[in-house]
Amino acid sequence: MNENDISVDQKPGHDEDDVDPENQMFSLSGNNENLELAIDSSHEIEIDHHGEMLTVGQEFPDVRSCRRALRDMAIAQHFEMQTIKSDKTRFTAKCSSEGCPWRVHAAKLPGVPTFTIRTIHESHTCGGINHLGHQQASVQWVATSVEQRLRENPNCKPKEILEEIHRVHGITLSYKQAWRGKERIMATMRGSFEEGYRLLPQYCDQVKRTNPGSIASVYGSPADDCFQRLFVSFQASIYGFLNACRPLLGLDRTYLKSKYLGTLLLATGFDGDGALFPLAFGIVDEESDENWMWFLCELHNLLETNTENMPRLTILSDRQKGIVEGVEQNSSQRPFTASA
Ligand SMILES: [Zn+2]
Repeated sequence: MNENDISVDQKPGHDEDDVDPENQMFSLSGNNENLELAIDSSHEIEIDHHGEMLTVGQEFPDVRSCRRALRDMAIAQHFEMQTIKSDKTRFTAKCSSEGCPWRVHAAKLPGVPTFTIRTIHESHTCGGINHLGHQQASVQWVATSVEQRLRENPNCKPKEILEEIHRVHGITLSYKQAWRGKERIMATMRGSFEEGYRLLPQYCDQVKRTNPGSIASVYGSPADDCFQRLFVSFQASIYGFLNACRPLLGLDRTYLKSKYLGTLLLATGFDGDGALFPLAFGIVDEESDENWMWFLCELHNLLETNTENMPRLTILSDRQKGIVEGVEQNSSQRPFTASA
């Protein structure tokens, strides 16, 4: 009977159950997967991650790829890493678990960006993580992990991302983490906001070409041609509103939170069941009386050009000054005959 056998009796618990001192093998169990970590006398660590082996002396093109490899390893092996030191020339991290001796140290080679693993300190005494999520599963890590999948199918939902990460890496993310990872990739795929604004005139042309009868116009500021207003109403919305909705029109707005802000103006009908039926939307640089009057004028033109027998419309709104004025101005020629 050796010392290890005695210690098992003295300290009954899960740690010893996972350790086989004979061949220095132990497993970190998490989510019912037993990922085995083999350690030989030269402190080489063999990990079950894309068939890679992390070894002392192993080189990485730069500090980023070195950190990524360690991050992947920590996630694959279900333990969390805590960075102790990280600068241009060194990277040291330890196992986050209190008292666990696992530690890695990497350093830059002189004259080149190459990073190399100098030491990997042995084994874990911790049992791995036993909570949801993973400290190393950052937004960027999630994004990189699902990039290929999102490029193939941009409609892939955050819930599916969650499931894939769980299946492949054995960790459970929150919905928000998956959503943020997806957003990051989508931003790189869709291009910049500036590019998006630049394409608006082309977008309007496409809407009108592919949906005949639709209205889509973008206006730039006369001074510098910067974006000022956008008005869109699809033909199907116009047809549905005039033929199957009550003579009611709700006007509302919501503030946009993307890089360039702005306000979304909405005109919404109500169908026979009382459900909301979108008629038109506008995007303006800011909510102002002038912009509301412009939006009402666009709506008036839309209705006028699409029906000969305009019903008396009741407008539902918060009676913002610009809305009331817009309704009054346009009601002299019909169709806005009342406001509420
Ligand atoms: Zn540990």
